[in-house]
Amino acid sequence: MIIGVPKEIKPYEDRVAVTPAGVLALTAEGHKVLIEAGAGLGSGITDEAYAAAGAVLVDGPAEVFGHADIIMKVKEPLPQEYNLLREDQILFAYLHLASEPELTEVLLEKKVVAVAYETIQLDNGVLPLLTPMSEIAGRMAVQVGAHYLEKPYGGKGILLGGVPGVPPADVVIIGAGTVGTSAARVAMGMGAQVTIIDKNLDRLRYLDELYGGRIKTLASNQFNIEMSVRYADLLIGAVLVVGAKAPKLVTVEMVKQMKQGSVIVDVAVDQGGSIETVDRVTVHSDPVYEKYGVIHYAVDNMPGAVARTSTFALTNATLPYALELANRGCPRAFTNRALARGVNTYKGKLTCRAVGESLNMEC
Ligand code: NAD
Repeated sequence: MIIGVPKEIKPYEDRVAVTPAGVLALTAEGHKVLIEAGAGLGSGITDEAYAAAGAVLVDGPAEVFGHADIIMKVKEPLPQEYNLLREDQILFAYLHLASEPELTEVLLEKKVVAVAYETIQLDNGVLPLLTPMSEIAGRMAVQVGAHYLEKPYGGKGILLGGVPGVPPADVVIIGAGTVGTSAARVAMGMGAQVTIIDKNLDRLRYLDELYGGRIKTLASNQFNIEMSVRYADLLIGAVLVVGAKAPKLVTVEMVKQMKQGSVIVDVAVDQGGSIETVDRVTVHSDPVYEKYGVIHYAVDNMPGAVARTSTFALTNATLPYALELANRGCPRAFTNRALARGVNTYKGKLTCRAVGESLNMEC
């Protein structure tokens, strides 16, 4: 098979869909990998590094789309790429078609086999191609929070870990899934006092066993949230109810009770946010705003700031599926049930029920 990797053209998207290690793995199986020249530069990967791993470098997206059987991308195709897609081509990328009616029509019309990273799902419900981005966002939430707690950046001027004789900061995390657990690890590593809140008691049991007395676990209810938000120096929103908007667990009144110069990082902002005062999405070039004396960080694509780490983390997770698609082809690769759940459009048919329901289209 020929696998084509175009340069991402979405603004501020510096990731790339394949690393040199991925090229080596695919070429070792007898496939040919076409990389658009310069595609890896945003992630610090040179054309020479790709060539050394066995890729063929080509100029411009037309060369990539025109020859590839499988297009591997990070983000969904943009309108200027629509005409480059070809019938029966396999498109493997984050697609989020539920909010992309126009792209969905294009994929159906062009009879593309579109496999969305975000709907690949294991039998136990885990979404393996979303997990690495949550791991990154969780770790970043603490890093970013520590930064804005510094006085020159508007914070109250405290060090997360404290020093001997001065207590550490209180980090309160709501949601103990991938983002929350990753945040907790980093916050503990920096010496902060960590409280983690979840409605899933088994999850809290697991964290209690893992970290013993080093972490405070609390069941999620209004009383516990109100009490913990009041003492938080850094509050991290990390809840998810699959397929739904994030529940608003922290009210305006609770935020008003927080100490001046505290920081909120609402990672769940991409699902509408779990904190009432998070009423907008912010961008990396202007990431925070202040409300009731509290700094709010609400960037919805946090991993984009660490493009190189994100590229390697993402491709570690996508490569096994890319290999399966390339080795077994279509439709044999879809006997893998996780991969089959990723198929959103198949040769003119919409095949993902959630997308059909969101767009009111037949599936
Ligand atoms: P996850 O499913 O692993 O964890 C979510 C946790 O929230 C679960 O443990 C669940 O029990 C808990 N939860 C649900 N309702 C709750 C409630 N009422 N009270 C307390 N806990 C509750 O999800 P995740 O991978 O950790 O993702 C968390 C959020 O972060 C998602 O919205 C995800 O889209 C988002 N995210 C954002 C970025 C970004 O750049 N901003 C990046 C990655 C992930």
